[in-house]
Amino acid sequence: MNKPLKQHLIDPEICIRCYTCEMTCPLEAIVHDDNNVVVDASKCNFCMDCIPVCPTGSIDEWRVVNDPYSVEEQFEWMELPEQEDIATEDGKDTDLEALDDAMSALLAEAHKGAGGKARAPASASKPTINMYNLGKPAQARVQGNYRLTDADSDSDVRHIILDFGGLPFPVLEGQSIGIIPPGTDADGKPHLPRLYSVSSPRDGERPNFNNVSLTVKREDQGLCSNYVCDLNTGDTVQVTGPFGSTFLLPSDPNAHLMMICTGTGSAPFRGFTMRRQREAPSVKDSLTLVFGARRPGDLPYFGPLKKVPETFLRKLFAFSRQEAAPKQYVQDKLREDADRVAELLQDPNGYIYICGLKAMESGVEEALSDIARGIGMDWSAIRDRMREDGRYHVETY
Ligand SMILES: Cc1cc2nc3c(=O)[nH]c(=O)nc-3n(C[C@H](O)[C@H](O)[C@H](O)COP(=O)(O)OP(=O)(O)OC[C@H]3O[C@@H](n4cnc5c(N)ncnc54)[C@H](O)[C@@H]3O)c2cc1C
Repeated sequence: MNKPLKQHLIDPEICIRCYTCEMTCPLEAIVHDDNNVVVDASKCNFCMDCIPVCPTGSIDEWRVVNDPYSVEEQFEWMELPEQEDIATEDGKDTDLEALDDAMSALLAEAHKGAGGKARAPASASKPTINMYNLGKPAQARVQGNYRLTDADSDSDVRHIILDFGGLPFPVLEGQSIGIIPPGTDADGKPHLPRLYSVSSPRDGERPNFNNVSLTVKREDQGLCSNYVCDLNTGDTVQVTGPFGSTFLLPSDPNAHLMMICTGTGSAPFRGFTMRRQREAPSVKDSLTLVFGARRPGDLPYFGPLKKVPETFLRKLFAFSRQEAAPKQYVQDKLREDADRVAELLQDPNGYIYICGLKAMESGVEEALSDIARGIGMDWSAIRDRMREDGRYHVETY
């Protein structure tokens, strides 16, 4: 029998196929097929570079095995295998954190910086994932493409509506879909899809039409964002997904949600808010949106958002480059709202969602940590507890 070894795996149920881990791995140990993204045990040296870049925590899976699972086996998985009962030579059990100290230290370090393993809210609807993949993408027709930011803003963010016609494409608020840019890369391989959060609710941008909306920012020299932002009505697009099984809405209209975002990070929160508006329009004081942008004209959906009553959706806007006003970031708004934030941290029905650019994460965490300290609590303990309960969600890219 081979000596037991630790194998690094990716949870196919939680992975959103963003391929960031694959692009980050210095050893090319992470590979994909049409279905899954997997780790080649013969190449992985546990450098951990892939752990903090994963937006979902699906990368942080480990098993002790006698014979490593092959890449081909992993490609077939719909879910991870259970940890097998494996006797080790020294009689220790297969608790990974205990098996060797160096590995435990590495894992602890990785968990400190990464989002940790995410969980869906207990009451969330069951999402459909990976229905369409690289080998079998869905075709959608572009129904509309509208600029959301002011004409004089140098940020071009677009509202794109995709129609799936008669093709089933079930999505939940908070999920993402992949768009495959046409053409091939320098090696002649098809381009990898880019992920975009769905910004419409589950029953469609227009209720009971089989369509979804996206909120896409044009990136300077970005391949897929320029392709999407330049789409015309009637164009056909290749779509994968849906992806994401944790950044979901609790099925409880009384759950208190604090949604913190910048830029296109607002996309899932538009979906959350529209779902609530359709499902429970009379519930008050349970939604707060903390939204940061440079100026009002750069903030996607600023006009429509202003029309939503404050009793339904509290809006805390932070502008960092508004004339004759001090610079404000989302973390400043959280600090100003410390009493409400502190209440939410202690509320078993309180949820925090953070979405947007990676750069916002540390400032927000610092503010939450200070607010927790202010009420005599330890932020990392609260955060771990909230994450365990499916009440703390981060999706940054
Ligand atoms: C879970 C998740 C959800 C997401 N949701 C959204 C969303 O709702 N909306 C949204 O807009 N984005 C979203 N993204 C980001 C999106 O997936 C893409 O990463 C983004 O659109 C950039 O892709 P691209 O193909 O345009 O850029 P790429 O071609 O992949 O380039 C990546 C970056 O490099 C820069 N770059 C490329 N070529 C050059 C060059 N020659 N010189 C200098 N710089 C260069 C580009 O400016 C870009 O910033 C999400 C990502 C994740 C992981």
